[in-house]
This record gives sequence, structure tokens and C-alpha cells, in this order.
Amino acid sequence: MRCHACGAEMTCRLGEHHYTESGLDSVFLADVELWECLCGEKAVGIPALPELHRVIGEALARKPALLTGPEIRFLRKNLGLASKDFADLLGVDKATVSRWENGKQVPDRPTDRFIRLVYAAHKGISLEWLMAQFPEISGEQEPSLPLRVPRSFWSRGEGTGAACRS
Ligand SMILES: [Zn+2]
Repeated sequence: MRCHACGAEMTCRLGEHHYTESGLDSVFLADVELWECLCGEKAVGIPALPELHRVIGEALARKPALLTGPEIRFLRKNLGLASKDFADLLGVDKATVSRWENGKQVPDRPTDRFIRLVYAAHKGISLEWLMAQFPEISGEQEPSLPLRVPRSFWSRGEGTGAACRS
């Protein structure tokens, strides 16, 4: 792969990437392609994004604490919904969704569960499975534990990193 900045050939290694582009600070991807150029430019190769986001979304849906603002934002975006549409779906106003996502207001426990149910219904996740997690959810917001996602969990063999190994 050539560098966008200077045109030189970049070098590649497989390694862990802190996936802050997701808007979450707890997600780490294992064995993704990390490209580097001598000029300092960097790039990351992440295969099968829809599957990856589904894996992250499912992990958030079973998180044993109330969802944080960035987590709610991630789930909403993963559903492909604008704030207004998400708000209409949940029966709140758009400003409320903004306050949740900015951490200025914490949704109560029923609302937290409702958000997860809406997510599960859209994504075809078994409601029985999800509801079995509910008794574990505490009534507090807590930051997510680091989520380390092995490449094999989502990549479906796409872009196996062969470019890095050759
Ligand atoms: Zn360069």
C-alpha cells in the first residue's frame, strides 16, 4: 500500500489497534493490519466493519451496568438512525437523546433496557437471550471493561492480513 501523504511504499505489521474511531474508548482490535510510512503517516486496515460493529453492539447490549453516553451513541449509529428518528422511536425528544449521549443525563433503568430491546429487535438478536441478561444489570453507569476483539470473531476470513505476512 502506498502512503497518501508522500507516495512511498508503507510497511505493515499485524497488531492491536485501539479502536477509538468507534467513539468508544474501551475497544481494542487484535491482529489488524497496521501500516506505517517513514514520513510518519499511519493507516489501519479493518475488515468486515458491519460484522465488527455487530460484535461490539452485542457486547454493549449485555453489559452488566447502565449504558454510557458514547455507548448509546454507538448503538444508535449502528442502527443507522439519526437522533431525531431514535428519539421518535423511544418516545422522547431529540434533546433528551443528546443529553444522554453527551453524558449530561443518565437514562433510568427501564429506558436503558428499552434501548437494548430496540437494538436487539432491529438486529435480530434473541429477546429471550437478552432478557436473561437483565437481572445482572446494575443501576449504575460504569465505564466498559476493555473489550479485546480477536480478528476471528468478526473478519470472516476477509483480508487475512496476507499483505503483511508476505
Ligand atoms: Zn509517507
